Amino acid sequence: MSSLAQDECVGRRVIIVGGSIAGLMCGLLLKHVGCNVEILEQDSDDRKSHMAGIAMGPNVMDLLRDHDRLKKPFTYGIDGLQSLGTGNKPRIVATGKREITSWDALYYRLRSNFDGWVSAYYPQPPKADIMDGTTAYHSNTRVLDVGRPDASDAHLTVTSVNRHTNAVSERNADLVIGADGADSMIRAKYQPAVQRRYAGYVVWRGTVQEEHLSDPTLKAVAHSAINHTMDQHHIIAYVIPGKDGSLQAGERLVNFCWYTNETPESLDDILRDRIDGHRHRNTVPAGRVKESAWEARLKHARAVPLPPAMLEIVEKIQEPFIQVISDFFSPKGAFENGQVLLMGDALTLVRPHAGLSSAKSAFHSRAIEDFVRGKTSIQEWETCVLRYSYLHWTQGVYWGTFYQGSMSMAIISGAHYWTYSAWYRFTSWMEAMLTSGGKSSSVSDECTT
Ligand SMILES: Cc1cc2nc3c(=O)[nH]c(=O)nc-3n(C[C@H](O)[C@H](O)[C@H](O)COP(=O)(O)OP(=O)(O)OC[C@H]3O[C@@H](n4cnc5c(N)ncnc54)[C@H](O)[C@@H]3O)c2cc1C
Repeated sequence: MSSLAQDECVGRRVIIVGGSIAGLMCGLLLKHVGCNVEILEQDSDDRKSHMAGIAMGPNVMDLLRDHDRLKKPFTYGIDGLQSLGTGNKPRIVATGKREITSWDALYYRLRSNFDGWVSAYYPQPPKADIMDGTTAYHSNTRVLDVGRPDASDAHLTVTSVNRHTNAVSERNADLVIGADGADSMIRAKYQPAVQRRYAGYVVWRGTVQEEHLSDPTLKAVAHSAINHTMDQHHIIAYVIPGKDGSLQAGERLVNFCWYTNETPESLDDILRDRIDGHRHRNTVPAGRVKESAWEARLKHARAVPLPPAMLEIVEKIQEPFIQVISDFFSPKGAFENGQVLLMGDALTLVRPHAGLSSAKSAFHSRAIEDFVRGKTSIQEWETCVLRYSYLHWTQGVYWGTFYQGSMSMAIISGAHYWTYSAWYRFTSWMEAMLTSGGKSSSVSDECTT
């Protein structure tokens, strides 16, 4: 076990690069064990959400149960997934309660808990506890480099630039967390070969406020997410909170996602900006999707035709945006003798079909907390986190191939996922039994469920 993990948590200097969902979850947990946490985020404090949904897996709910000091509800509960056929005829595909929120409602909630940020979502942040470590969230601060100034130094130095003043700063840290997303600068430094891989399809996304939708459509999405599958296309829609996190009926939004396969040529065309014509890399933001591209999508929707509820939603979307689906798995997550750790999308980018991006961030955060508290060694941390990440990466590939690919590819990726899943569960269960007679840590508990 590294000396870092054996030390007391209190007063340990932690710098987190990236202040989105993963960085904030991790920062919150480490603050609550007494670490002094600074988050360096290149973007501004007031983040513009993509107005899309975040499904809260059990890991997220558990993390919030233990660390969220706000009481205001911010999720919409659904009972499962229904497939819509012609005439909105529903067929139950999956049952099980799931809480859904929006990226912005979760981001501002974590900010409120982490550094007491006041927003329209949460005007009254919770009070800090006397046992908490100190926190700071430095927005508009882009990290340029992380390293050990001298091989004998115990600490690391993080170099950053303020995007407004261009002032360059250096900060010392005992632990640096790379939560800087799929295009992570930290991963690029330590694992340059690991890069996004285009999955062969994109998702067209958008939202419509409930008050603009008819009663039959509202009824279709009231209690469950709805989906519709076609050959190499699939669509999913569900309710998320509205402006400033509102859960009032009528103010909530219906979130719509339509996955379509795109060749390199068609991708090149739809990723062109409607205003200046430049080609976006991973996302065409709202307001920038070419009119001709969206018109073609609507024409397709009417020609199929989509089930009436889906057709109504897609026709009423005012500002669609496009996200390119890509993925990767990094086979390594710890560097600099366990003082630089990757997490969230910086460590593994999972395709969105299982709605696990925030669950993955919660799992990684718990694992880092266990490591910092000395419950696990750096080797145990890395093994557990990489296994979990690989499991969900293969699951995302399987689901994506099932919906968007050929039957033979779906069978191959399904066999890969199910074989690994069985091995993962068995190994995690065995390890939990051997190391603690069945009493495993919070993270290994999840490895075995
Ligand atoms: C503004 C925004 C809106 C989003 N909206 C949605 C949504 O509506 N629905 C959804 O499912 N997912 C959304 N996502 C993605 C979602 O947050 C992630 O997929 C998931 O939660 C895991 O997040 P992450 O924190 O690992 O990565 P990300 O969310 O990608 O966060 C990485 C963060 O690191 C920052 N960063 C990157 N490089 C540097 C650097 N060198 N220095 C400092 N900071 C850096 C980025 O600005 C970003 O804030 C959104 C992400 C962002 C940033």
